Amino acid sequence: MIIVMSPRATAAQLQHVIERIEALGYHAHVIHGSERNVVGAVGDERGKFQLQSLESLPGVDSVVPILKPYKLASKEVKAEKSIITVGHVKIGGPRLVVMAGPCSVESREQVMETAEVVKRAGAQILRGGAYKPRTSPYSFQGMEEEGLKLLAEAREATGLPIITEVMNPREIEIIERYTDIIQIGARNVQNFSLLKEVGQCRKPIFLKRGMSTTISEFLLSAEYILSQGNRDVILCERGIRTFETATRNTLDLSAIPVLQGETHLPVVVDPSHATGHWRLVPPMAKAAVAAGADGLMIEVHPHPEEALSDGPQALKPERFIHLMEELRRFAEVAGRTL
Ligand code: PEP
Ligand code: MN
Repeated sequence: MIIVMSPRATAAQLQHVIERIEALGYHAHVIHGSERNVVGAVGDERGKFQLQSLESLPGVDSVVPILKPYKLASKEVKAEKSIITVGHVKIGGPRLVVMAGPCSVESREQVMETAEVVKRAGAQILRGGAYKPRTSPYSFQGMEEEGLKLLAEAREATGLPIITEVMNPREIEIIERYTDIIQIGARNVQNFSLLKEVGQCRKPIFLKRGMSTTISEFLLSAEYILSQGNRDVILCERGIRTFETATRNTLDLSAIPVLQGETHLPVVVDPSHATGHWRLVPPMAKAAVAAGADGLMIEVHPHPEEALSDGPQALKPERFIHLMEELRRFAEVAGRTL
């Protein structure tokens, strides 16, 4: 249910509403609007008639049901777009955000060289995996804490905030200590216990769509995080499984406007995992900007032929720099800056 406060409601009236919601066994999530505040009351649907009675409290304009299965993620609860701040970077605002870097952290030289390129090209966030979800147990599994240290060193050197993936609740604490944004990969989009755990974190969560996750399921996964109190969720479309084999996945471009219509959360597109081939990354990156994405995640490697994971889809430094120049023009046409 959404409790819509009157524009003239006092802070004490708002507080009283929150206390009543909690006394009924619900969680109260206050959304501060420019005109008025609303309070999302989320929890067991069975008590909604009791919530309806809050309409008689002073300062309350109306109590309305949230029709979508996802509540806090929905535009019904929050019409204004969420802007997520990471250091000096704002994700979800008019400026497109580009996160770039290697699939995996492999060595100091590799991370430092890539970080310098990423920065020089004008990207705002450095990506790199230290705990890798590999299809085969015999493939490189990531440098773990050593990798996190190298990412932190690269942040120190360049000033770029960093993003890295967590796969296991046991590793949340150590990853949160180093990273600025916590990534949940496609394979874990419905690992509900992991989602609940990162919902308790203070760092923003970058949630990738699963390879066979519907948009509604994807938003319900975001809801798991939001309902634990972490409001900073960034969604990422990274391609879905279809019958097509010419590309690694099929980039669901229409997911961008669908998500933008359903949710206030920022929507980022990863054309690297979506296509699996570096040649396809620039056209799909441009298409994503045209379709209204708030940002891009792109894999870059100084020597893709030597990469320990996802080499075929990594852009070489000069190609990434060139793409960023092209993207500036696309961003402008899409009413954005970069
Ligand atoms: C990644 O970002 O390196 C990754 C493993 O992506 P995904 O979870 O989308 O496959
Ligand atoms: Mn990868």
